[in-house]
Amino acid sequence: MTRIGVLALQGAFIEHLKILSTVGAEGVEVRLPQDLTGLSGLIIPGGESTTVGKLAVTYGLIGPIREMAQHGKVIWGTCAGLILMARTVEGVEQPLLGMMDLVVRRNAFGRQVESFEADISVPVLGAVSEPEEKNHPFHAVFIRAPLIASVGDAVQILSRLSDGSIVAARDGNLLATAFHPELTGDTRFHRYFLQMVAEREEASRDT
Ligand code: GLN
Repeated sequence: MTRIGVLALQGAFIEHLKILSTVGAEGVEVRLPQDLTGLSGLIIPGGESTTVGKLAVTYGLIGPIREMAQHGKVIWGTCAGLILMARTVEGVEQPLLGMMDLVVRRNAFGRQVESFEADISVPVLGAVSEPEEKNHPFHAVFIRAPLIASVGDAVQILSRLSDGSIVAARDGNLLATAFHPELTGDTRFHRYFLQMVAEREEASRDT
């Protein structure tokens, strides 16, 4: 079975582990560099990005996760995980993995609407949708969410809110969502991630 690591330093990791078990993958809690051995992919969950970044530095995880990305392993950051993956976060200094060509704005939706939900269109999910899910919007839960202020040329924008804010993007083997797909019953994003993992494993077998 495909083994997927979920960074388990702080935040919403249990929810990701639960969903992975329903979509045919084995979720593995990652707290130390040795936990990354033998994984086919990694999820960096939501939480508080400064805390997670500091803990990742303390436990020596920054270098090994960057190496995983450089080796083409599929890595997905949700919310705080997206912040950690970004190359630049506007206006703040905090430890980052800094491996995805994105500029991110933390807590972008202001205090009065710290949390909200929106039905968004994510065309790439069509490829993993069952017939009854086809053309359904994805119900996205935003919790003190960041937005992606800009992306590099190679980055594919996967979804925007109706005001144009970028909330999901892919850069080759790296995936980022500003919202929390693990908090709804819709498993399409997890299936899309596993499809990225399967494609990458097939490509590395062929070379
Ligand atoms: N506001 C958090 C941060 O900036 C992210 C929130 C989340 O992951 N739900 O780190």
